[in-house]
Amino acid sequence: MTNRVIIIGAGLAGLMAALAARKEGASVLVVDRGPIGLGTNSALANGVMTGPSETYGPEDYVRDTLRAGDGLNSGSRVRLMAREAPPALRLLHSVGVPLRERGARRTVVSPDPRVIPGVTLMRKLAGYVRGLDGIHTLPGFCVTELLHREGRACGVRGFNRKGEPLEIGGPAVVLAAGGAGAVWRRHDNQKRIMGQGYALAARAGLPLLDMEFVQFYPLVLAEPGLPALIVYPPFAGEAKLIDVSGADLLAKHGLADVNDAIVKKRDRFSALLFEESQAGGVFLDLRAVPAAAWSVHPLAIFRRFRFPFRERPVAVAPAAHFMMGGVRAAETGETDLMGLFACGEILWGLHGANRLGGNALTECVVSGALAGRFAAELAQGAATVPSPVPGAKPAAGPEDAGTAADYRALRAALQEAAWRGAGIIRTEDSMREALSALGGIEERLGRLAPGSAAEKLAHCDLRAGAVTLKAVLEAGIGRKESRGSFLRGDYPAQDDSRWRRNSCLRFDAGGGGFTVDYLPADDA
Ligand SMILES: Cc1cc2nc3c(=O)[nH]c(=O)nc-3n(C[C@H](O)[C@H](O)[C@H](O)COP(=O)(O)OP(=O)(O)OC[C@H]3O[C@@H](n4cnc5c(N)ncnc54)[C@H](O)[C@@H]3O)c2cc1C
Repeated sequence: MTNRVIIIGAGLAGLMAALAARKEGASVLVVDRGPIGLGTNSALANGVMTGPSETYGPEDYVRDTLRAGDGLNSGSRVRLMAREAPPALRLLHSVGVPLRERGARRTVVSPDPRVIPGVTLMRKLAGYVRGLDGIHTLPGFCVTELLHREGRACGVRGFNRKGEPLEIGGPAVVLAAGGAGAVWRRHDNQKRIMGQGYALAARAGLPLLDMEFVQFYPLVLAEPGLPALIVYPPFAGEAKLIDVSGADLLAKHGLADVNDAIVKKRDRFSALLFEESQAGGVFLDLRAVPAAAWSVHPLAIFRRFRFPFRERPVAVAPAAHFMMGGVRAAETGETDLMGLFACGEILWGLHGANRLGGNALTECVVSGALAGRFAAELAQGAATVPSPVPGAKPAAGPEDAGTAADYRALRAALQEAAWRGAGIIRTEDSMREALSALGGIEERLGRLAPGSAAEKLAHCDLRAGAVTLKAVLEAGIGRKESRGSFLRGDYPAQDDSRWRRNSCLRFDAGGGGFTVDYLPADDA
């Protein structure tokens, strides 16, 4: 089929791409290693989207996004977002997603306040997309390779739910595979979001930019037995953050307001709470919050858990949340490989060294709509598509399939290496130690030959997580300063004279490592 657009990832970015590609007349196939819509980070989101509106002009949006990005945003991408956000958000609204507009923000409103807004968003969108002719979905299909021939994308290779290998050809492929938060021991992402997209892109020869910039969310539940859910803002006025001795942490650190700290000083606030949690613990005391607040968003979400929130403080701590870096693409979403498009969290350029709150979902909506539209155009103009080269039979290799316990242990080792080496505050030593731990993990992985579908998924996630963590570490070791979300204990100051630069990594498939350059940031 020549006009097929294959979309990898059924989150907000992937489904927006599907809608837009279908509108242009393409035949669309959305694949996801998990279910369509609800296994994604998009379904965990607070549903806040920042963008220009009647009372918040494009120039306000550009100013605030650049300020958060601390000199490393791609100026052209920020301005593209300012231009394209209003029509893309209208497209989302038109499919029936309930959006409330206030100032700079559109917010998804769940009819039941106990439901996470992202779930409402993705249920609505996935339901709409599934009902359209011309869009096919393939849940449970894990892409292990981006196929390209004669300098252009020509399909994907992977395995299905039963673990059977499958190749799908098509002239346009959209990579909407999301971020990598679950590579870290403490994270608030879906547990399988381990950087699969970055690894696919790197192995296909694409550069990865600014991978050292990882955002940690300050307040994530850390109580044994409770999921690592973020404390969704806005934060109730009567709630208190206390240390292990019961002292008020805001007063102790001279902070006026938690909401302000989360939105405007997220990186430093996370570092501060990290240090406090190392020193004995951070607790959220909700005892003084009036009863009425528990029936509305966001606290209503906590009512789903059995924890006695109204009787005793709950442990919280920062956790890995969002990747600022990723794949470079033109305004159309097309990457350096012809026919391969990228959108959503995997895309580089908008956020620079840190992300303005609410800008990730807006980016998914805008970059998804653009990538889908231009992928469809390219697919329809493609007279002939080079066929994929048949997959080489794997060379006779290791015999050890590995047990579930082996994969669990490797996952724990990878997450620990990420948390210790590429956590909230890093040093040269911490990053080098993590690289060396990674060597052992990759070597062990190389000796395993997964047999069942579950083992294949675990193996694929771990391989991707290892490549992604290596990119984060390699880019971080060279950057000898602190900026945005990237904080170094051994280089605590920001150094604009030397480091207003974007890291750019290239994967060496033979050696399994990256080479890194630091390119001057554009004049945003
Ligand atoms: C708790 C939480 C709250 C947040 N709240 C907000 C908010 O209010 N506002 C905001 O702007 N941002 C928020 N964010 C960030 C935002 O939600 C994400 O950046 C965004 O949803 C990412 O969307 P995406 O479509 O790029 O990826 P995802 O929604 O993560 O979807 C990616 C999909 O790709 C699939 N996939 C990956 N690799 C493969 C493969 N190899 N083969 C097949 N499928 C694959 C995955 O299974 C996944 O389903 C939040 C994030 C979290 C974790």
